[in-house]
Amino acid sequence: MSTSKLPTQAADFPAWYVEVVKRAELAEHGPAKGSMIIKPHGYAIWELTQRALDDRFKATGHENLYFPLLIPMSLLGKEADHVEGFAPQVAVVTHGGGQELEEPLAIRPSSESIIWNTYKRWIQSYRDLPLLYNQWCNVMRWEMRTRLFLRTSEFLWQEGHTAHATSEEATAEALQMLEVYRQVAEDVLGIPVYLGRKSAGERFPGAVETYCIEGLMRDGKALQCGTSHFLGQNFAKAYDVTFLNRDGESEYAWATSWGFSTRMIGATIMANGDDAGLRLPPSAAPVQVVIVPIFRNDDERASVLGVAEQLRADLAATGARVRLDARDQHRPGYKFAEWELKGVPVRIELGPRDVAAGRAILASRLGGDKEEVPLADIAGGMAARLASVQQALYADALAYREANTHEITSFETFAAGVEEQGGFWIGAWCGDAACEAEISNLTKASIRFLPIDPRDPGAACMHCGKPGIDVATWARAY
Ligand SMILES: [Zn+2]
Repeated sequence: MSTSKLPTQAADFPAWYVEVVKRAELAEHGPAKGSMIIKPHGYAIWELTQRALDDRFKATGHENLYFPLLIPMSLLGKEADHVEGFAPQVAVVTHGGGQELEEPLAIRPSSESIIWNTYKRWIQSYRDLPLLYNQWCNVMRWEMRTRLFLRTSEFLWQEGHTAHATSEEATAEALQMLEVYRQVAEDVLGIPVYLGRKSAGERFPGAVETYCIEGLMRDGKALQCGTSHFLGQNFAKAYDVTFLNRDGESEYAWATSWGFSTRMIGATIMANGDDAGLRLPPSAAPVQVVIVPIFRNDDERASVLGVAEQLRADLAATGARVRLDARDQHRPGYKFAEWELKGVPVRIELGPRDVAAGRAILASRLGGDKEEVPLADIAGGMAARLASVQQALYADALAYREANTHEITSFETFAAGVEEQGGFWIGAWCGDAACEAEISNLTKASIRFLPIDPRDPGAACMHCGKPGIDVATWARAY
């Protein structure tokens, strides 16, 4: 670990992010441009996120399956908007086994095409519906400008793909999964999110509606944290997926898809981190409690480590993810800084005097405050302590977002405000795509979301002055 100071968030947020990812040993760049090596500490955060999502997918009736990485180009091309939207980002395999392929194969940028081509054989009757499936996999979207976790050519995610008999059922499914994403973002990763619907220009290629959760990072920029799409019958029509309904008539099936990716590790870093590094919510912390023993000679070492090991075992027995850092090559101060950087929520400092007094020092990563706690009380009180850290971290991020969410009073104040301080800006919009593009050009902000149900703003569009038809929330975004 480098011991030089991190850049501060205020001085250079992008440099702060790069250094935290590197020094907290979350990820590094791979040898191919745009690729990412996820290191154990980063991958462990992803595993906890996966488990939180997967438990909720199962609880809402979904099953996991797996489709292939390679998709024949002709298959990808059947849904016109989908292929047009992804065309600039698709990587194509043209050679295999030393020979040019008869038909090039796309590396999946998303799996709607291959899945809906298969659902054609799986869906015959309304009795076959709904299909509630999800897959955990990697996808590839060629990127010129990459940033670890936030934008890499290959990333890990889950993609849910469901088929339904009615439009209403599919819409309800898309919104249900948006709520699942909200729970994991807020309750597990500690990132407050707004729920909304994308404007037409920001929709997923081939979707009728794209719903999203949007978070605010500590530099005032928004980050799309997860999307859930109502695909209507677009993919059923492109891949000819019909079923016989209850009246014996042939109908196209209704679709949803929804995805949540390793990008959320980047969101966790940027929404919760501070100038000392990562601050992990306990639910997503691979190490929730670290015990750092303090000693100066072999006698002290033996007595302190004996008590530390017992404390570790007691904490582990409560289900806490606990680590005893007994490394000899580093001094306690170095270890404190390293675990702070890695975002461990609670640190326990245990020295000879503490052992003699039957207590330890508990230090919180959140506020930095320290507290003496009797050894006998530590394990029993840890679950409640971690829960309160989880809440406090979320409350801190929420307070930041609330302080940085503004009502637009005029286009000029919005343009100046988003330039100077970032944040979310809410105002009346005419619904015109040309007006939206003009505002984006002038401010570098985009519509992050509209309300899930259109809302009459009761005011004129903040830019063009035409009657407002919806309430748009704008921000500069990653
Ligand atoms: Zn307008």
